[in-house]
Amino acid sequence: MTDCLFCKVIAGDIPGAIVHQDGALVAFKDITPQAPLHVLIVPRKHIPSLNDLSSEDDALVGSMFRCAAALAKQHGYHERGYRTVFNTNREAGQSVFHIHLHLLAGRALAWPPG
Ligand code: 5GP
Ligand code: ZN
Repeated sequence: MTDCLFCKVIAGDIPGAIVHQDGALVAFKDITPQAPLHVLIVPRKHIPSLNDLSSEDDALVGSMFRCAAALAKQHGYHERGYRTVFNTNREAGQSVFHIHLHLLAGRALAWPPG
């Protein structure tokens, strides 16, 4: 999608600090990190929000979580702990309408979230 920020990062039109990429996913550091490790795991496929998922995306979404776990392990946070978050629409604070899984680690994370 031409006017989507994350499609532009995936295409290389906007620079991103990429930490992982494969045929289906690109993971890059959040530009405003909220924890020592804050990575966005993004499918190459443009899907605006979780409300737009279909059953054909089930394996893709599963691979996003497996990517998050692998990156947490790679950065040494898998035993300390980490958080994975999808924000959806206004009250959850979604600001980029191309689904992305936040991976946050490296500090104690409060619950409930704000
Ligand atoms: P959301 O609020 O939609 O759940 O998350 C969007 C995230 O994208 C935010 O955490 C924000 O800091 C991040 N972000 C916004 N613009 C850019 C950008 O140009 N590059 C990167 N790497 N992250 C961005
Ligand atoms: Zn997009």
